[in-house]
Amino acid sequence: MITIASLLIDWHRKYGRHDLPWQKNRDPYAIWVSEIMLQQTQVNTVIPYYHRFMQAFPTVASLADAPLEAVLALWSGLGYYSRARNLHASARIVASNYQCRFPVDRCSLEQLPGIGRSTAAAIAVFSFGQREAILDGNVKRVFARYFGIDGFPSESKVQKILWEKAEEALPHDYQNGQIEAYTQALMDLGATVCSRGAPTCEVCPLNRYCIAAIERRIDQLPTPKPRKSLPQKEVIFLFLLRDRKLFLQKRPTSGIWGGLWCLPEISAGVDVSAYCSDQWHIQVKTLHELPILNHQFTHFKLRIYPKLLTIRSEKMALSDDSIWIYPSEALERGIPTPVRKLLQRTFSSSNNLAIFI
Ligand code: SF4
Repeated sequence: MITIASLLIDWHRKYGRHDLPWQKNRDPYAIWVSEIMLQQTQVNTVIPYYHRFMQAFPTVASLADAPLEAVLALWSGLGYYSRARNLHASARIVASNYQCRFPVDRCSLEQLPGIGRSTAAAIAVFSFGQREAILDGNVKRVFARYFGIDGFPSESKVQKILWEKAEEALPHDYQNGQIEAYTQALMDLGATVCSRGAPTCEVCPLNRYCIAAIERRIDQLPTPKPRKSLPQKEVIFLFLLRDRKLFLQKRPTSGIWGGLWCLPEISAGVDVSAYCSDQWHIQVKTLHELPILNHQFTHFKLRIYPKLLTIRSEKMALSDDSIWIYPSEALERGIPTPVRKLLQRTFSSSNNLAIFI
């Protein structure tokens, strides 16, 4: 009998991806790291980060033993840093509660920080060959089109229908690599053939049965997110420069960019010189306005007004969560993407630095 699972498994044999670095074995640790990195990030971007991460932390025990700072430094540039913090927290739980052996069932995996139902299912499938359904963003798109499901896929009632379809679509014969091939095929099809903007239905193994293709509704499915404009926040980032070194502060562990090194941030409109004097007892010698940087988060937009200051006084007291550091060394630390961009464009050559001194 032809089913979505049989079509996908056949297709995967010929056209699926078989040589991704995390496909080389069934080590749940390696699969877990790759699944977390692949959340919100494309395969090609993930691969070099994955190699560096696995080289630094080859086992769950080594990750559990590492300081969070070292984990964040390796994550720097990949974004969504809560993933790295959760990875680290989960490693410590697996080390202490499970003697470094991953739980084998999806429900126990779901109890670990940062592992939702779909990620837990993917780990259970690829590590232990369990019959579990996945439903990441790409798979939601494939199912919404194939089954012709209207409504924004992250809305709870639509999500419930999609999960039911995901369960129904699982292959009944799931041994001998069938469940792994089916799951990988779904991921690959969503990432390559059934893409968001320009799906290539003519080469899709599902095209004869796909409701969206049959009814010519591909551009309507999945239903887009209801539009609402994002609020905008405006802040000033301070480049405090002394002896060619920059002042950085570590963000509190919870909240945006938690645990990462950042330029001091103050609200837009605040008098910078007065703030520096009140906060750190320093006098500003020169102040340069740098080009504005816009950054978008899921829930709001951030407009950053960077200001570069050279300072007179050296009385500034340092806490454990602040450092003076050369810009080139700052780039080796765990820093948020907008700060990385600002450092790179401001200090791209030593000549740049010279104009500020
Ligand atoms: S036929 Fe087209 S829309 Fe339907 S699943 Fe395949 S690629 Fe997606």
